[in-house]
Parts: sequence; C-alpha cells; structure tokens
Amino acid sequence: MGKKYLVRYERNSCIGAGVCVVMDDKSFEMNTDGKADLKAGKKSSAYFEKEIDESELDEAMKAAEGCPVRVIHIVEKDTGKQLI
Ligand code: SF4
Repeated sequence: MGKKYLVRYERNSCIGAGVCVVMDDKSFEMNTDGKADLKAGKKSSAYFEKEIDESELDEAMKAAEGCPVRVIHIVEKDTGKQLI
C-alpha cells in the first residue's frame, strides 16, 4: 500500500492567482469569490485539509510549489513531515 499525504490549504491567505487549479485540477477549483477551493477538503480552524495517496502527490506538489504565496502545504501522514 502506498503512502498517504495530507494537503493543507490556508484559504484565508489565497490571493486567487489560480496556479494551483492549472497544476492540479483534481484537488483545486476556483470559487466565485476569487479564491481557490480544495475539493473535498475538510475545514479545521486554520486551514482546509484532505488526504491524498501517492498517485496524487506529483500534481499536488506542483500546485504547492506553483502557489506564489505558498499557502498550500503537503505533509506525510505517517511521520508528520512537511514536504512543502
Ligand atoms: S495558487 Fe495559491 S494563491 Fe493562487 S489560487 Fe491557488 S492557493 Fe490561491
């Protein structure tokens, strides 16, 4: 079984550049308020979060790296290690 990862998205700080949607339209879509939404993301106090598996990691990493304000983070679920 492959590793699991968590995508954490600080939506409050999104500036609506839309890069994440271009890089990973499985996880991100633009909302009419001009910010991106994390599809199927669960809201916690500070961010939205969802679990992805290894097959989705590349695209999620590209979205996180492409975000100009770096509000998308990826964490290894088992270790809690933050990849970005
Ligand atoms: S790339 Fe970053 S700033 Fe742009 S829409 Fe996505 S989360 Fe928001």
